[in-house]
Amino acid sequence: MALLDFIRRKKKGPKPVYQAKRCPECNENMPLKAVRCPSCKVRVGGVDRYGKARKGIGWFSYLFCILSWVAFIYYIKWAFLQ
Ligand SMILES: [Zn+2]
Repeated sequence: MALLDFIRRKKKGPKPVYQAKRCPECNENMPLKAVRCPSCKVRVGGVDRYGKARKGIGWFSYLFCILSWVAFIYYIKWAFLQ
């Protein structure tokens, strides 16, 4: 029953506290507050429940995508719908 207890505790237990997190790309350890992986320079977010860092959100990419669509729509309007 020790195994069952272990599984139950793992499911219901409080969120584990980590001293470090791992890079989602290269698995390198880094401090919890790091925003960039020291070895592969990828952006990382907070730590998840398995001790792995979440992938950082590329806000610039989102912004660039939205701006490209806006420019494209304006171009279509300008070129064909006048
Ligand atoms: Zn890395």
